[in-house]
Amino acid sequence: MKERLTYLYELQLIDNQLDELEQLRGDLPAIVNELNSQLNGLMESIASKDHQKTEAQERRNSNETEIDTLSQDVKRFKSQLSKVRNNKEYDALTKQIDFAEDKIKALIKENVDLENQAEILKNEVTELSPRVDELQVEIKDKESELKKIIQANEREEAIFLEKRKAVAERVKKNDLNTYTRIRKACDGVAVAVVFRKACTGCNNVVPPQRQLEIKQNKKLYTCESCGRLLISEEIANEVKSKLKF
Ligand SMILES: [Zn+2]
Repeated sequence: MKERLTYLYELQLIDNQLDELEQLRGDLPAIVNELNSQLNGLMESIASKDHQKTEAQERRNSNETEIDTLSQDVKRFKSQLSKVRNNKEYDALTKQIDFAEDKIKALIKENVDLENQAEILKNEVTELSPRVDELQVEIKDKESELKKIIQANEREEAIFLEKRKAVAERVKKNDLNTYTRIRKACDGVAVAVVFRKACTGCNNVVPPQRQLEIKQNKKLYTCESCGRLLISEEIANEVKSKLKF
C-alpha cells in the first residue's frame, strides 16, 4: 500500500513541475487562440460582405436585363396604340404600358438602392481589411514569443514527461483514474499531505483518528473537506528526497 501512495505522490510532484513549465507560457497560448478566432471572425465577415456585394451586383444585372425587355415592350405597345380599333383595346394597351413603366421605375429605384448597398459593403470591407493585416502581425509575434518559451523549456519538459510516463506506468489504473479526476477538480493538486495536523490542499484540520490512520500508510484516504487524496508526511519526505525537486 505504501508503494501505491508513494507513486501517487511522485506523480503529483512531477505534474507540479510540468504545470510550472506550462505556467511560464502564461496567457500566451490563450492570447494566440483568441487572436486567431478574432481573425477567423473577421475573415468570415469580410467574405460574407463580399458575397453580399456580388449578389447585389448580380441582382442589378438581372434588373437591367428586365428593364431592357420592359422598355422594348413599352415601345411595342406604344407603336400599337396608333393601330387600335376601339376604346377597349386602347385601354388595355395603356394599362399594359402603365404597368410596364411602373415596373421599370421600381427596378430603377431598386438598382439605385442596390448600388448604395454595394458601396456601403465595399467601404465596410475597406475599413476591415487593415485589421486583418494587423491581426496577422500580432499573431505572428505572439506565436514566435510562445515558441521561444517552449523551446527554452523543451528539454526540461521532455525529461519530466519521461519521468511521468515511468511513474504513471507503476500507478494502478484505478488510482490513476482517481488521481486524474481529483486533479482536474482540485486545481491540479490531487494528492495532499497531512502536515501539522492539516490537509496541505485546503488547510482544514484532519480529524485525529484519521491522522493516525494516514500515518500508518495502509489505505487510500481522501480529505473530508476538499476531496484530495491524503498521504503522510513520512511518504512526502521520502518522495521529495528521492526526486530531489
Ligand atoms: Zn483538504
